[in-house]
Order: sequence, then structure tokens, then C-alpha cells
Amino acid sequence: MSICDFTFKSEYLRDVLENAKNKHNNEPEFIQAVNEVLKSIEPVVLKHESEFKKSALLERLIEPERIITFRVPWVDKEGQVQVNIGYRIQFNATLGPYKGGLRFHPTVNQSIMKFLAFEQIFKNALTGLPIGGGKGGSDFNPKGKTDLEIMAFCQSFMSELQKHIGHDIDVPAGDIGVGAREIGYLFGQYRRIKNAYEAGVLTGKGLEYGGSLVRKEATGYGLMYFMRNMLEANNISIEGKTVIISGSGNVAIYAAEKAAMMGARVIAMSDSNGCIYDENTINLSAVKEIKEVNRGRIKEYLNYNPNAIYYENTSDIPSVYNIKADIVLPCATQNDINLSCAELLVKNGVKAIGEGANMPCTNEAVDYLVKNNILLAPGKAANAGGVATSALEMSQNSMRYFWSFEEVDKKLENIMSHIFKLCDTAVKTYDLGINYVAGANIAAFDKVSEGMIAQGII
Ligand code: NDP
Repeated sequence: MSICDFTFKSEYLRDVLENAKNKHNNEPEFIQAVNEVLKSIEPVVLKHESEFKKSALLERLIEPERIITFRVPWVDKEGQVQVNIGYRIQFNATLGPYKGGLRFHPTVNQSIMKFLAFEQIFKNALTGLPIGGGKGGSDFNPKGKTDLEIMAFCQSFMSELQKHIGHDIDVPAGDIGVGAREIGYLFGQYRRIKNAYEAGVLTGKGLEYGGSLVRKEATGYGLMYFMRNMLEANNISIEGKTVIISGSGNVAIYAAEKAAMMGARVIAMSDSNGCIYDENTINLSAVKEIKEVNRGRIKEYLNYNPNAIYYENTSDIPSVYNIKADIVLPCATQNDINLSCAELLVKNGVKAIGEGANMPCTNEAVDYLVKNNILLAPGKAANAGGVATSALEMSQNSMRYFWSFEEVDKKLENIMSHIFKLCDTAVKTYDLGINYVAGANIAAFDKVSEGMIAQGII
């Protein structure tokens, strides 16, 4: 099955995609995400075409329940007023309150917000936990800002966002550019405005005020749990495998940590400027100090190991992907791996790819990798550990109780195994070979569509 193939056997699917393309031709990332899902679920749609068409199920599925945009004015350190755009896309609450992170990055726009919120519906469904899909953020660039500027921005952002969220309505968390510091400032402002301690309104909180153990590690650890399940199902051991990771943020760092715990060897990591290659193994304490403490650049790794090599990015293929490895973990941003990059990875003998980031492979790259029998762990399934642990944080907040690190980690490991089983069952049921991308989409669609049908035309 080809993911980027626009030719559908189902006339209904073809019409839905054509209409979406016409309506949203200025939203390429959103259309890319919709295309991938619609193409994947074709075998299911063909079985129920007239029923789905009559209730406009797919038209409703790809239209957000609500899009909120707002002005975010704040004062910078020079006393100058700055204005950013804030977004919250409340896409689909069939399975529970909207749930999904906030991204602060200058590239943020409505297309990116919609693609992320759309993907989140399916990811959250796969976790088996009662959460719907949403996403938000701003085109604010946190890089180079002082702590006070970050706080001023977060307070202004939350002053508006608080009107639209709540633990039974919509529960944001972190994403690119939004970590523990930002969540702290956002939560503080929410609490101040509401004059109530509603801990379950945000996840990714600090441990001292309602956060969950393992939330920080969850996406990266979960990615490696999924990867191990996928490799084992295909008779490959993770032990001794070399790993390269695109990115050096939250997901990348904890994927690297768990990969090392599983006996693999991480030899390269990157940021948006370039990558470091350490042929023995990356010193993760150094990366943590550079990124988590100093908020510095990955190039500074050379101060820790002068024998490592730094490669600047010079083309549309990020330099990290030039390094040969058995396992590749894109943990930075969307569309990091295009078709030429996928060709390079296959040429270099990659065995498996795990999407820590959301939609890091273009549809053409996904197609190429699957056709070349590369095991590809799709982001919707493989990086769902973060949101799953966020849901566990919400449970602990409701109970006013905390589980130990081991308890949460065990629950995360079980959830990731369960997600892998769902994908594996779908690929077997529909005879999809090793196309776990389609498997994840089908398994998630089954849950969301059943819920939508049960809840009537809304
Ligand atoms: P962070 O902000 O902690 O780190 C992001 C990393 O990606 C940094 O190394 C950053 O480099 C790099 N990066 C960001 N944007 C670009 C870009 N346009 N081009 C090249 N590199 C870029 O974010 P996270 O680790 O939280 O998120 C990484 C990915 O994982 C995202 O796709 C996110 O949506 C996804 N994800 C995150 C989850 C979470 O729990 N945090 C959950 C599920 C998915 P630089 O510092 O140079 O910008």
C-alpha cells in the first residue's frame, strides 16, 4: 500500500481528499497528514463506504471541532511591546477531553497546528486512555530570550488560553520549545486567574507541584519500548546496534538514555545547526548539561570530547543522516527525512527507523522506506508514551496521589507493548506486511470512528 498515492479505489475517499485539498490548499502539512491517514484506512472504508458517506464521517473527522486563535502581546527586556499569534486547535473530543502539547517555535502556523492536532487524535486513541485530540502553540521564538521574557510571554499566552481549557475540557502539555520551565509559568498564571488549584489542567508539571515521575523521560523511553517490541517481532535484537538521533531536545535525550540502557550504542545527535559524531558512544551527561542546563548548541560537545566530530548542516538532508547506523531515530521536527534522505538511509544499511518526532518523514519517504522493507515505527504509535504518561499524570492528580518511578515506568512499558500489539494485529488482519504506519492508522481509526458513530451527528 502506497501512502503518498493519491489514487483511491474508494470514490468517497477520493472526493473527501480532493475537497480538503481545495479548501485548505495553503495548509500543506495538514493535507499531508490527512492524505496519509485516508490512504491507510482505505481497506476499512471500502467495507463501510455507504454508511460512512451517508453520515459524512470522514468530512467530520478532518474538520476540527474548534480553532481558537488569539493575540499574545508581551513586553521584551528593552521595554518594547511584541505581538505573537496564539493557537489552540480542539480537533476531536470523542474519546475524552482534548489533549495535546503546546509548541513555541517561529515556524508555527495554522497548517502545522492542524496537522499536529489531527495526528494527536489517533495517537491518543492508540494509548487506550480517555483523551481526545488537540494541539496549540505560538510563533513565539524562545531561543535567546531571558527568563523574564519567557515568563512575560507565558503569562500573556495563558491569560487568553485559560478561557478555553480545563481538566474536563482541554489539557495542554509541552512540545518543541515548551518544557518544565514554560509549563511552570503557564500553570502559575492559570492558578492565579482561576483562584483554584486545578492540577489536572496542564501536564508536564514539576514534581513539586503535581507532576508525574517519568513524564520527562516518557516519550523517549516509550519510543525505545515500541522499537524493541517491533524489532523482537521481526527477530532482531537491539543489543549492540548503532543508533543516530536527529535532535537533542527532550525526546532525543531520553530516547538516547533508554537506547543505551537496552545495550545499543548512540553515536550521533544533532540540533538545527548540525550534528556531533562520537564513534565510541555519545556522552549523554554532556548533552544533558549543554541542552538542559546551559540551553546551548550541540557543537559545544566538542568542549567535552575534542575527539568527537561536528558536521554543520549544508543541504536539505540534515548532516546527522550521513552517518551510518542500524537504527535511526528522528526526534526533531516534521519532514526532516525527505525522499533523498530516505534513499541515503537505505543505501547506508539502516534496519529500523523510530519516529520520535511527529511526521518526521514525508509521505514519499515513508513509501520508499516501507517498499524497501525498512522497519518503520510510526510517530502516532511510537511517540505516544509522552501523552500516555500525561494521562497518568492526570489520573494521579485526580486521586491526589503519586505513583513511584518504577510504577509509572512499568505502566508506560505495558502501554507501549499494547500499542505495538494493536498495530501488529492491524497489519496482520489487513495483510499489510510490515507497514506499521498503515497498521497504526487503521487501529486508531477503528476506535475513533466507532466512538463518533455512537455519539451521533455532532
Ligand atoms: P525540544 O524543544 O525539547 O527539542 C527539539 C529538538 O529538535 C531540538 O534539538 C531542536 O534543535 C530540534 N528542532 C526543532 N525544530 C527544528 C527544525 N525546524 N529544524 C531542525 N531541528 C529542529 O522538543 P521535543 O523534544 O519535545 O520534541 C521533538 C519532537 O518530538 C517534535 O516533533 C514533537 O512534536 C515530538 N513529540 C514530543 C513529545 C514530548 O513529550 N515532548 C511527545 C510526542 C512527540 P534547536 O534547539 O536547534 O532548535
